Amino acid sequence: MTEDATEKLVELAKRRGFFFPTAGSYGGVAGFYTFGPEGASVKSNVEEAWRRRFTTQEGHAEIDAPTVMPEPVFEASGHLETFDDMLVECAECGASHRADHVVEDDTDIEEAESIPIPEVEEIIREHDLRCPTCGTPLADRPVEEFNLMFETTIGPGTGRPGYLRPETAQGIFVEFPRLSEYARNQLPFGVTQIGRAYRNEISPRKSIIRVREFTQAELELFYDPEEDDPDLSGVRDRTVRLYPVAEQEREDGTPYETTVGEAVDEGTIASPWIAYYLGIAAEWYESLGVDVDRFRYRQHLAGERAHYASDCWDAETELGGDWVELAGFATRGNYDLSKHDEHSEDRYTVFKQYDEPRTVERATVDPDMSYLGPEYGGRAGAIADALEDLAERDRSAFEGDSVTVEVDGETHEIPVEHTGFAVEEVTETGEHVVPHVVEPSFGVGRLVYTLLEHAYREDVVDGEERTYLELEPAVAPTFAGVFPLTDEAGLPDLAREVAADLRAAGLSVTYDDSGNIGRRYRRQDEVGTPFCVTVDHDSLEDGAATVRDRDTTEQVRVPIEDLPGALAALRDGEATFDELAADPQAFG
Ligand code: AMP
Repeated sequence: MTEDATEKLVELAKRRGFFFPTAGSYGGVAGFYTFGPEGASVKSNVEEAWRRRFTTQEGHAEIDAPTVMPEPVFEASGHLETFDDMLVECAECGASHRADHVVEDDTDIEEAESIPIPEVEEIIREHDLRCPTCGTPLADRPVEEFNLMFETTIGPGTGRPGYLRPETAQGIFVEFPRLSEYARNQLPFGVTQIGRAYRNEISPRKSIIRVREFTQAELELFYDPEEDDPDLSGVRDRTVRLYPVAEQEREDGTPYETTVGEAVDEGTIASPWIAYYLGIAAEWYESLGVDVDRFRYRQHLAGERAHYASDCWDAETELGGDWVELAGFATRGNYDLSKHDEHSEDRYTVFKQYDEPRTVERATVDPDMSYLGPEYGGRAGAIADALEDLAERDRSAFEGDSVTVEVDGETHEIPVEHTGFAVEEVTETGEHVVPHVVEPSFGVGRLVYTLLEHAYREDVVDGEERTYLELEPAVAPTFAGVFPLTDEAGLPDLAREVAADLRAAGLSVTYDDSGNIGRRYRRQDEVGTPFCVTVDHDSLEDGAATVRDRDTTEQVRVPIEDLPGALAALRDGEATFDELAADPQAFG
């Protein structure tokens, strides 16, 4: 789709109530968009479809956590320290820009996010890159890390610092001890969440593609890397277009098509769990109407990965000539749970039962406090703890006459005879392990935008130009429009009755009697309504109505009493329009 067409889509989105800048009456605020009735409807259809596929069908559990969390959560998760983008500010006009985007837009360097800051500054100097807003050189401007989290205060007064979550994921990780109990401590298990995330993006752009408040649908799959593998049988043969690191680094490298099974067998995708989710996501995106020819999975370059990820693949789609990330599939290892285990008072582990009890040797200490007390006074307790810790980690330290421990930066030599060091044999039935995590993380707004852009069509019908959205019934805001052809007595009443019957059958229906019939069809085409039903003078006599197909504009007469069944069959994919045309009473 050309830039011109992208503009047309954004204009259509605003005019027809898909999405528009928030608080426009007050001048708007960059990075915030409101979904109007049509957009909110597509969005909720997408969320429902995601829930069906990634929660219900996978047998996972969905939670709903708050969007504000106290500071220690993000200290532990690493977001406070490292959830940054590169900021460069123009000395002349004061505009803020993402330095990596300035580099990508004005050079042929790709994925500049993965380049260290000093090199980015160098590139800006070498290429004499300029402020995208006013054209002033940025050569002598520093590039800085800018933390993307929105800060807030919890409670009155100075309160406690809190942050709006930058990803829904932490709401799941932080509750792992409860969620694991809910899953009866049996790995693997998955927890999902659909909800808002907030990022104080340096330069929001491309309407709803990069905003400061957006909806994510995330799945955290907790598993034991030594035991748990996904069942790949359902996705093995699924074709996916991959763009691994090796291809990105090769001069003439390109994305290529392969199957999920081959990608795993050849080691292109290291984690079978990631491959599994890539496979089901590919099928799911296609079922919603994403154009598969404009779709690929790209592996992150090393410098591009988030602080928690050891490997990551993005689902990307082509929009207005650019590749845009729709979802990320990250191998998070045991990073998150280990961090919360370390920083909180809870345990973020599951107890893994051995098949057979095991006898193991365990080094223990029983420090002689009657020696440590008089010798070290107030530090004796800490020294005893340090000895215990050391015995667990490195029993060879106790092999000599004395052992060295460090407490508060001071080293102490303790005679081994006073440590009570011993090696005992114990029988263990299992061990506490920190589960590993893979995370498919979907952006909902970007997908809504993609579905609209990929469905945007222009054609000519009866000598008149027409714009329509070829949306799949599963995501279209409304399934059918119902109209009386004219305001002739009896027709509006009959049309209202038809609309009520269709709604009672669970179909989403809009009733419209304003303007001429051609205009009413155009209005529905433009918002992607797959079918329209019109009652006319003949309907009063023969009890039938005209059903019109959005894409072909073909029409068929169907008995009114058969309409609910016929339209439900079209919606559920049990009938095509051609089949209905061949036998209008077959699905009633
Ligand atoms: P990430 O955690 O960065 O991999 O983000 C996961 C998904 O959230 C992305 O694939 C996007 O679809 C979506 N997303 C991230 N940042 C934004 C944003 N600023 N605006 C809209 N969607 C976003």
